[in-house]
Amino acid sequence: MAGQVTAVDVLIVGAGFAGIGMGIQLARRARESFVIIEQAADVGGTWRDNQYPGVSCDIPSHLYSFSFRPNPDWSRVFAEGREIHAYLRTCVKEEGLTAHLRLNCALVQAEWDGADARWLVRTTRGDFSAASLVIATGRLSEPRIPLIKNLDGFGGRWWHSARWNARVSLVGRRIGLVGTGASAIQILPRLAAEASEIVVFQRSAPYVLPRGDREYSREETARFAADPGTVSALRDELFAEAERNIGARQRRHPDIDLLRQRSLDHLSASVPDERLRRLLTPDYEIGCKRILFSDDYYAALQLGHVTLEPTPLARIADGSGYGGVQGSREAIAASGNSYHLDVLVLATGFNSTRPSIAGHIRGRRARLLADEWSNGMAAHASTTVHGFPNMYVLDGPNAALGHNSAIYMIETQVGYVLSALDYLAVSGADALDVTAEAVRSYMRDIDTMAQDTVWVQGGCTSWYRDERTGRVTLLWPDSATSFRDRLATFAPVSYEHLHRRGQRPEPR
Ligand code: NAP
Repeated sequence: MAGQVTAVDVLIVGAGFAGIGMGIQLARRARESFVIIEQAADVGGTWRDNQYPGVSCDIPSHLYSFSFRPNPDWSRVFAEGREIHAYLRTCVKEEGLTAHLRLNCALVQAEWDGADARWLVRTTRGDFSAASLVIATGRLSEPRIPLIKNLDGFGGRWWHSARWNARVSLVGRRIGLVGTGASAIQILPRLAAEASEIVVFQRSAPYVLPRGDREYSREETARFAADPGTVSALRDELFAEAERNIGARQRRHPDIDLLRQRSLDHLSASVPDERLRRLLTPDYEIGCKRILFSDDYYAALQLGHVTLEPTPLARIADGSGYGGVQGSREAIAASGNSYHLDVLVLATGFNSTRPSIAGHIRGRRARLLADEWSNGMAAHASTTVHGFPNMYVLDGPNAALGHNSAIYMIETQVGYVLSALDYLAVSGADALDVTAEAVRSYMRDIDTMAQDTVWVQGGCTSWYRDERTGRVTLLWPDSATSFRDRLATFAPVSYEHLHRRGQRPEPR
């Protein structure tokens, strides 16, 4: 590396929930030699990126926040995106992370230097040398644009839900909303209040459950503030309630039947029209895709100016009929139905299973992480990858949940990384590389846990599974509690101990 190189113990990539959580725990342990690099101009990850109308969290806020930084002030049961973003910014400020942050600083390449046993990290704002590397770039950061033929020939405006274009007024516009996932169902009711016409392109019908959102009263927030015990009791209660849903995901009876029936009853009670109800009835098992929570999605779909198109958006018509240069405004569904639209909103999800950062990280023998993961993401303890010493991936392979809070999983992984760092400090080694066998054995356990669950047997496609192999590579296919149990102990026996050149101890 040419020029000045900043040396740190830990380099964290990404300042979303995972990177901030890791940073807080390092700072609280007075391990001050760390930086958090963030390619954007602000912290917040998904809560910075997603600014679409109606963005909020479908996990209750008192659970979807750090256990070590409870917030008595949440304004409602399910906070809006901007409130969660503000919470994260407050965490950064009050936990002393500002000095550790490098904003507008994108990772260009990270390379393991075996001779020095350090990561050499080239960024858009200078070079770093780090003993340990924590990848905290999340799984919902790269918008996925589906194959829609001639999309670039669309004569109106289009954007992805995570790149909201607030400069374009939607009042009186004809809008196509593509997708019916967690983002789309939050967007539709808000768009419906402005647009003159909306077409929802549905590829698969989601299962929807009532959300039961409400504001917290002044008395409640005052009580939370006065007695922190009430906040942690509420958190425990919310966690236990969510955790009970794992039975349905494991296809246990009657859990799954009751859950399915609850959702279908909600549909029946909300949509009297039989034809529409049929179109909105999923053709796969409940829980296979993420279950959605909404109090206003079905109502919005039944408004006079909203149309449900029960097939995907396939293509934009050839623009030549409309003057060519200006493109076409005719959006054509797989059914052949055609809609004249001004704006297209693609709420089509994210590249989660194949993160592009893996193409920028080289481990031992210069192996690319993307090559190591060519058959899908894999890690030991959902965190460490063979051939990539002293590297930890948060919220990556097999660390997502379909039924409980992602923050609990992140905190579990942060605990695991801290144990690894503590062990490394006393081990006499300079680096730890998880063995190939430890990764294989962990992945065998994942396959076994997953095989009878609704995610594998439920008859759907989802981003929880790798699209090429069908293996569950994103999700932890069991309870959140079992994940914490599994990661509670850091077992050095799973790791090869590496030494800097010239530091290798004499064989005894
Ligand atoms: P998503 O769940 O991946 O949904 C994408 C949607 O786009 C799906 O309905 C998909 O259909 C559809 N789609 C893709 N290509 C299409 C096409 N050509 N025509 C029609 N539909 C098409 O993405 P998301 O809604 O952005 O949510 C992603 C994740 O973010 C969620 O699973 C959740 O973890 C998180 N999220 C959370 C919250 C929250 O409140 N906590 C809110 C928003 C998002 P198929 O189902 O057929 O693939």
